[in-house]
Amino acid sequence: MTAARQRLAILGSTGSIGTSTLDVVARHPERFEVVGLSAQQRVAELFAQCLRFRPRVAVLPDEARAQELRARLAAAGVATEVRVGAQALVELAAADEVDSVMAAIVGAAGLAPCLAAARAGKRLLLANKEALVVGGALFMRAVHEGGATLLPIDSEHSAIFQCLPEDRRSWRTRIAHIVLTASGGPFRDRDPDSLHGVTPAEAVAHPNWVMGRKISVDSATMMNKALEVIEARWLFDLAPEDIRVVIHPQSIIHSMVVCRDGSVLAQLGTPDMKVPIAYGLAYPERIESGAERLDFTTLKDLSFQAPDARRFPGLQLAWDALRAPEGTTAVLNAANEEAVAAFLAGTIAFTAIHSVNARTLDRLPPDLPASATLDDLLALDRRARDTARQVMTEIAA
Ligand code: NDP
Repeated sequence: MTAARQRLAILGSTGSIGTSTLDVVARHPERFEVVGLSAQQRVAELFAQCLRFRPRVAVLPDEARAQELRARLAAAGVATEVRVGAQALVELAAADEVDSVMAAIVGAAGLAPCLAAARAGKRLLLANKEALVVGGALFMRAVHEGGATLLPIDSEHSAIFQCLPEDRRSWRTRIAHIVLTASGGPFRDRDPDSLHGVTPAEAVAHPNWVMGRKISVDSATMMNKALEVIEARWLFDLAPEDIRVVIHPQSIIHSMVVCRDGSVLAQLGTPDMKVPIAYGLAYPERIESGAERLDFTTLKDLSFQAPDARRFPGLQLAWDALRAPEGTTAVLNAANEEAVAAFLAGTIAFTAIHSVNARTLDRLPPDLPASATLDDLLALDRRARDTARQVMTEIAA
């Protein structure tokens, strides 16, 4: 008798993580069935994915794009149903016909469907770190109450997860601290005084990883690592001081667990997101990912350095925000999303991203009620975006 295939919904299927996920899935048609896909703007790419993977449902944000996709699907004789809007994403994430959800939307926009998947007890493959940075305690409560299996996809968190035993109850007593590795991005060795004038094209040209534009800018500022510190706090239930960061330019060691007895456990591999994606998809088994293997005979140095606070001032905000009142990480995330979008649009300088984040945090100490709801967090997210936009107007004046 053959085992039932895992029924998968990929939220953000046209992005970097989404396409890598489909790449791994395509290698194992006997294991996975794609039942839902979603995109924001790239209708042609979504159509091509529907043609190839024949999902039951595809979701787009607005009726105009949905009509375009419906027309193309009808002409090609593909029966995929096209649904529209944020509620359709939430419904797909929680649908009975879905076993696993790959959360690969970028930004806080992914929070509501992630929460829905968690509450519905899905296997939740979490790439969308911003959802956890914003959702924090609410998100983790939903995971526990819904009985979901939360599988980290970020390579660093997957590395930590792979170094830990399956029984989560032993994690606390086992871990002394964790070390998240960071490549240092394209400006690792750049003179901090020269960073003001860098262009979006320079900032998204990551030396080791091919990623979406927003996370690439976050890697250049190391705000990506700041978000990952916050993500790790929730995923592994750690105190902020037990999360450390080291720059490892080769991106071969993807992160490390320092155990109470002094042993250090690390996960290594070529820098290819298909590895953590394949691990999340097959967990607890291992399947072919399509990633190149490490060749130790050609591997050069593995080097490490402390992050320079002058070059990467945003990194410290992670620990500051974790120690501040609940909701502060949501404010930081919203400010950063707005600032990165403005930088990519050419409206603010690269170095202004940090100023916007720091000033927004100063101006908007959150006052969330105890046991904040999704609506409370989304309202705070909107206020933080307004504040960040106000700060940017002042910077430009
Ligand atoms: P991309 O920008 O490449 O893709 C984002 C996906 O989400 C696309 O399918 C996009 O649609 C869709 N999308 C964008 N905005 C919205 C929105 N407001 N509502 C609904 N859908 C939306 O991002 P990445 O794949 O690089 O990153 C996805 C997530 O994974 C991020 O949270 C990132 O931090 C995380 N991550 C990424 C890694 C990587 O290597 N890329 C590594 C580790 C984590 P469309 O294509 O139509 O615009």
